Amino acid sequence: MYIQTQTFMVAGLSRSGKAAAEYLLSRGAKVYAYDDVEEGSAKEAALSLEKKGACIVHREDLPARAGECDILVLSPGIPIDHPLPLFFKKHEKRVMGEMELGALLLRCPCVAVTGTNGKTTVVTMLERIFKAAGKQSLACGNIGLPLTAAAQTLPEDALAAVEVSSFQLETLISLRPHVAVVLNIAEDHLDRHYNMENYIYLKRKLLKNCTESEYAVLNADDSTVREFSEHTKAKTVWFSGSERVDGAYLEDHSLCFCGEKILSTDDLSVTGEHNTLNALAAIAAAKLFGIPNEAIAEALSSFKGVAHRTEKVLERGGVVYIDDSKATNVDSCLKALKGLDRETVLILGGKDKGERYEPLFAALKTSRVVHAVLCGENAFRLMNAAMAEGYTSVTLCRPFEVAVRVACLTARLGQSVLLSPASASFDAFQNFEERGERFASLVKEYAPEHSEGMPAAEGEQEAASSDGEA
Ligand code: ADP
Repeated sequence: MYIQTQTFMVAGLSRSGKAAAEYLLSRGAKVYAYDDVEEGSAKEAALSLEKKGACIVHREDLPARAGECDILVLSPGIPIDHPLPLFFKKHEKRVMGEMELGALLLRCPCVAVTGTNGKTTVVTMLERIFKAAGKQSLACGNIGLPLTAAAQTLPEDALAAVEVSSFQLETLISLRPHVAVVLNIAEDHLDRHYNMENYIYLKRKLLKNCTESEYAVLNADDSTVREFSEHTKAKTVWFSGSERVDGAYLEDHSLCFCGEKILSTDDLSVTGEHNTLNALAAIAAAKLFGIPNEAIAEALSSFKGVAHRTEKVLERGGVVYIDDSKATNVDSCLKALKGLDRETVLILGGKDKGERYEPLFAALKTSRVVHAVLCGENAFRLMNAAMAEGYTSVTLCRPFEVAVRVACLTARLGQSVLLSPASASFDAFQNFEERGERFASLVKEYAPEHSEGMPAAEGEQEAASSDGEA
């Protein structure tokens, strides 16, 4: 690839596409920029790129312009079987993802993190840990700072913490992380990847370039991830919440690495077993970069979690309101249920991704959820799954605003309202952040000052109010 003399088509003008186009323009390439959507933020991005010298392509001109291009740079939102990449492939021209472009530019070593859930949490932990050790670092990739943008600012002695999604793995070839972390594999994105075999194949691709000189940090508690060890040349280092492994594990209420205590579980600021596992994964990766224990402990004890992940947004009238908008699949919702310390009214639903919801309702029957409010595009699929499992404590109501109001009015003294939708947000929102922010503002409007409920026994009342002060 010789950027100065080649013509690029950048498809998809969200953060990644914009960053790729800006970089290519800054290096003197001819850039055509295209997005299926021609309004809102995509239009703004197109106008800004046009000012920098890009040619904006409209749908009707796409075939002609595509024919003029040497290389297609694809944003992660566009699947590899979209007609545009198929056209380039048919003409034997290069198709690369934005992350692939970033990987070619990256000068410093990196840790790359994939898995169904926990990626953002773990790369954020790692960025904090690296910084606590005095290293320059950026959490980048799928987290929202495109690798192409981060790679231009990180010098050779920095450490990058790169979040890699299955969408990005479709077009990623060159990334060779010093440490590759695979957190877990559960059903997700089947609307895009068609089946679990394909999804697992993509996740395993993260390890493809690793040799015996590099490390694979793998979850020993996840049977699918455990098998990855047999398909990589990288040295495997494990993390586990249930057994003493060669790597990071729990022992005597402490998070340990190969016989050394790193920090006590009480010192961890994030809650939930899944977050303890995330911290163990981060510890294993950090140790492989030679980070001192003190820096790891300092960063993990002060890390309070990322917004929209089981985040308490309000407590009013004896009811706690929790935003877990980032729970966009069944597995992440199940993890939120496991951590519930109160009876809960759960809000479910959004855009369907082809997952089976029966396991979710089977779990609800033995959880602390007392009622589920179903909304969103997939509300009827959810309802069918609830009925199939014999879970009857449900209300189906749409739109989202009504569902939140119903949940607020249903919750009783001492309970919580949890938004953990097990579905994507794109049926009604730009993204999960917007959904979470809407939830927070709606509960502030609708949460009653005094929730009804059977007067709790004295001990219970104390428990409810002491939660509030915590
Ligand atoms: P990702 O970037 O992979 O989507 P996040 O850290 O943003 O992961 O968390 C997404 C959702 O998954 C949140 O609801 C969070 O509470 C939940 N979660 C976080 N870590 C894990 C984990 N290790 N296993 C299962 N769910 C998790």
